[in-house]
Amino acid sequence: MIAKTQKKKNNLKQGMLNNVMRQFDNAADIIDLNPNIRKILEVTNNELVVHFPVRMDNGEVEVFTGYRVQHNNSLGPYKGGLRYHPTVDIDAARALAMWMTWKTSLARLPYGGAKGGIQLDPKKYSQAELERITRRFTYALGDNIGPELDIPAPDVNTNAQTMAWILDTYMSTKSPTERSTNMHVVTGKPIGAGGSEGRDRATGYGVFLTIKFWAEQKKVDLKDKKFIVQGFGNVGYWASHFLEKEGAILTAVQDASGSIYNENGISAEQLWAYSEANNRNINGFSGANSLENGDFFGLDCDIIVPAALGNQITAKNAKKIKAYLIAEGANGPTDVEAEEILLKKGVDIIPDILCNSGGVIGSYFEWLQNRNGEIWQLDEVMAKLEKKLKESFTSVVDTAKNRNVDMRTAAFIIAIERLEQAYVQRGIFP
Ligand code: GLU
Repeated sequence: MIAKTQKKKNNLKQGMLNNVMRQFDNAADIIDLNPNIRKILEVTNNELVVHFPVRMDNGEVEVFTGYRVQHNNSLGPYKGGLRYHPTVDIDAARALAMWMTWKTSLARLPYGGAKGGIQLDPKKYSQAELERITRRFTYALGDNIGPELDIPAPDVNTNAQTMAWILDTYMSTKSPTERSTNMHVVTGKPIGAGGSEGRDRATGYGVFLTIKFWAEQKKVDLKDKKFIVQGFGNVGYWASHFLEKEGAILTAVQDASGSIYNENGISAEQLWAYSEANNRNINGFSGANSLENGDFFGLDCDIIVPAALGNQITAKNAKKIKAYLIAEGANGPTDVEAEEILLKKGVDIIPDILCNSGGVIGSYFEWLQNRNGEIWQLDEVMAKLEKKLKESFTSVVDTAKNRNVDMRTAAFIIAIERLEQAYVQRGIFP
């Protein structure tokens, strides 16, 4: 049983790295990327693995393994989230760091790409333990992170509270002047601790906006369209919230605790309140019936929003999919084989590096405010986010049309070309 679980986890990890490399190769071949630049972008710049001890509530010491992979910084400081999950390891961090490089480049942000996290299941630890784990991890990362070097943010199973602990720990090691000027060492903070209005909903709002832009372009009315969401964390909830406001109907949700279904609609607000009170699990929600996990992706619906982990839509379940749009709230949810099947069936995929880029764009706004000593209003943040996402969306659609490629390939082409240009202009030291 253990061997089987381990094998499944390994597939997930290897799959993500394999997928991002294949996505990169595909776009690099099409644009005939300079072979020297290709060599640089195929590998990560720096990889840090730390093992650190933490005292548990029962007095025992546990040793954890944390990662931070910095893929590329030719466009600006490394940027990307920290994830707390059993599947976090060096290959997962590599894959996710690479996706961050393409994501920030596509969004025209002055950032590179990084990712990291800790290999653990946070549900097994108390809040006090998670605080000590986070603080000790931050201490272990030391000056490998920094406001102009590498800026972490929330990801799977981390949140504003996690970021506040990171900020406080990082600051505690600095001199008094550095303490007040380094708030931008981490983004996604609580508003009271230097966070930005709107950052909490930025990823989910961005997912919704890209669906809205897609619908406008295809002349589809989102009202009464059925959508299903995998993962009901920050991204899944906010995407559902905004889609519901537009008149679309949430008919099914899946998370690690199971799958639920109600063809008349599930209230995102009620489900959120329920899951918050139920250790962040959706199972047992009274407003829906439970469903076999294996039946989830094949449900009769218009839109699927995968907003959980990588490699969820594979050759195995892609054939069953009835939806005509997949909006990737998660990073790497669709593997390469599944994508081939789906594209042949005429399913549109709004790729992760575009679809969920609202999060890092929101982070950029927070970073700018901290750096410049500014505080922006919510409506200002949301309007700026919409403008930026619209520009990205339009450029992806235009490139897809001009090059006769799918949206993911188009997004990668734009992202890689921007990096290629930076390398060509700057040359290679020495
Ligand atoms: N973890 C998010 C992502 O995958 C946000 C990263 C950030 O804001 O730096 O895009």
